[in-house]
Amino acid sequence: MITLIKNIKELLQVRETSVSKVSGAEMAILPTIKNAFLIIKDNLIADFGAMENLPEVKADKIIDATGRIVLPSWCDSHTHIVYAGNREQEFVDRINGFTYEEIANRGGGILNSAKKLNETSEEEIYEQSRIRLEEVIRLGTGAVEIKSGYGLTIEGELKMLRVIKRLAENYPISIKATFLGAHTFPIHYKENKAGYIDEIITKMIPEIAQNKLADYVDVFCENGYFSVEETEKIMQAGIDFGLKPKIHVNQFNSIGGIQAGVKFNALSVDHLEIMNPEDTEALKGTETMPVALPSCSYFLSIPYTPAREMITAGLPIALATDFNPGSTPSGNMNFVVATACIKMKMTPEEAINAATINGAYAMGISETHGSITKGKKANLIITKPISSYYQIPYAFGSNLIESVFIEGEIFS
Ligand SMILES: [Zn+2]
Repeated sequence: MITLIKNIKELLQVRETSVSKVSGAEMAILPTIKNAFLIIKDNLIADFGAMENLPEVKADKIIDATGRIVLPSWCDSHTHIVYAGNREQEFVDRINGFTYEEIANRGGGILNSAKKLNETSEEEIYEQSRIRLEEVIRLGTGAVEIKSGYGLTIEGELKMLRVIKRLAENYPISIKATFLGAHTFPIHYKENKAGYIDEIITKMIPEIAQNKLADYVDVFCENGYFSVEETEKIMQAGIDFGLKPKIHVNQFNSIGGIQAGVKFNALSVDHLEIMNPEDTEALKGTETMPVALPSCSYFLSIPYTPAREMITAGLPIALATDFNPGSTPSGNMNFVVATACIKMKMTPEEAINAATINGAYAMGISETHGSITKGKKANLIITKPISSYYQIPYAFGSNLIESVFIEGEIFS
């Protein structure tokens, strides 16, 4: 099956030779071809270039993209889209002036999601999650990482990971699974934190690894959650079972989580709303991708990741949604890109690089995703007719996507 997309107004993120990520000043460069063509063979990008160089091709299907921009689909490297129910009551409670702590004390927060998850059948969780997954694909996401972490029991965590596996089997987009048993401490371990960590290390990780239910291990490293020392213990246990770390750090406090992540060669360190100069320094020259989650900052009214300082320091940045029922009930990567430009002062070029190639790196798939490169997956966004790609962040709140290709086929 050969599909030709012709007369593309501008083809974005064109990389003749694949790069795994872009850092610092490179992030400002978004290679493009104006008046371009792109040829898809089966599920892969077979060729692309300027229209004047269009080779003779026997296409089964021809799409005229006059006036439209084509770009690689978004790579959302940090989500919690498998969950049960919602936390809209907490949202209204916060509007009415209750603090996060007061809400948590009333049984809200992650423990509220954990209670709902453990009370809901696997089938029902799959059904609820499937709807969210389909929504984000239609919003242009072509690869997604999904975390467990609302089970907080071995049964609950396995249930979540099985749902993630089933989504990966039933949908054409790439899905990476991350085990986040260390999301918070369950109620029955409140007075015995060491006991829960022991359960994660000796029971959950071995069982999950044995059943190949996760690619990565995650920890919420934060005051009141998991200390740096506890985070290191859990990362080591994951590594021992082949699970590379991707960790939540520096959301509310800088306590050394970034340094710990770097020490254990984490694939990514995520959140980073609170960054000290030492934190930025620790990331320089490492293989660890810093991931910013601006729609979480937006929803909680907390600081945004200081992208400008980090990029000036030469670091790469990836952007992801953090789609979850508590702090970011949205999986819209278009909004994330817009918010990164509006609130973090990233340029459109930087934000698009962060949401495509760097997002792919942050889930270990930049060899196959995140750029227009021959041999990569034909996962693409075709926009509606727009004046330029600046519209993508500028017209925030508008859906500018006309169609989404996943594995070479239009997702509908
Ligand atoms: Zn998260």
